[in-house]
Amino acid sequence: ITAKAIHQMERPVLPNVKNIIAVASGKGGVGKSTVSVNLAVALAKTGAKVGLIDADIYGPSIPKMFGAESIRPVGDKIEGREVIQPVVQFGVKILSIGFFVNVEDALVWRGPMASNALKQLIMDGHWGELDYLLIDLPPGTSDIHLTLVQTVPVTGAIIVTTPQDVALADVIKGVNMFRGKTVDVPVLGLVENMAWFTPEELPDNKYYIFGKEGGKNLAEKLGLPLLGQIPIVQGIREGGDEGKPVADDPTSPMGQAFQELAANTI
Ligand code: ADP
Repeated sequence: ITAKAIHQMERPVLPNVKNIIAVASGKGGVGKSTVSVNLAVALAKTGAKVGLIDADIYGPSIPKMFGAESIRPVGDKIEGREVIQPVVQFGVKILSIGFFVNVEDALVWRGPMASNALKQLIMDGHWGELDYLLIDLPPGTSDIHLTLVQTVPVTGAIIVTTPQDVALADVIKGVNMFRGKTVDVPVLGLVENMAWFTPEELPDNKYYIFGKEGGKNLAEKLGLPLLGQIPIVQGIREGGDEGKPVADDPTSPMGQAFQELAANTI
């Protein structure tokens, strides 16, 4: 065991971070990263100090969604301790495994390497004082989830789902992971993403292409709050691809949906 590791064990974990919130999903592609990014920006808009860790080792998409792909966080030494300065975009402090490795390399990592990488982002990031630190987890259940709950005092978890059945079955597994025998993290609620399709020019028209209110019904069944319903809107996808999260404009209908989600989360 190295001196550095001992030093870390003695240091209280993130004493200046008030809430650590894990964002999880039963499976990939349901919009977990999209929700994480826009929730972080929406929380920052309320005046809160917000950080976001991209722990999706196998498909880190946060740098792209924040328009930060070409930015590199810098190392620093503060009070004798080596730290990584998070990148700040849209008022959110961000660190992603994607800043340090290329995705092809991360794909062949074994569980322990990925878990160590997450620990480093949490422990060595110079987060300062934060009201919320969101952690965008990989889809499903994995070692990384266990590492997270064993490394840091997680305040609560948010589960993102789509209304489709197959995603919903996986959600139950995800919820049970946080409510397990050894792990006891409160599930703050579900977010139903892709709840309906709305053409941007006809915001009142709703097309339930993945089924109606699957997430809402599941939340009721599990006795969990439904924190928000986010429609499928072309602008949300474009915002992600262009690195300009829609939540940056809280007056737009999409921005409002994320403001509502933020209000329900705090
Ligand atoms: P995950 O993190 O669950 O794998 P992503 O957030 O990467 O999912 O989303 C998958 C794709 O779906 C991305 O191209 C994203 O832009 C798009 N997407 C996610 N949510 C929405 C939405 N509400 N409306 C439109 N596109 C969305």
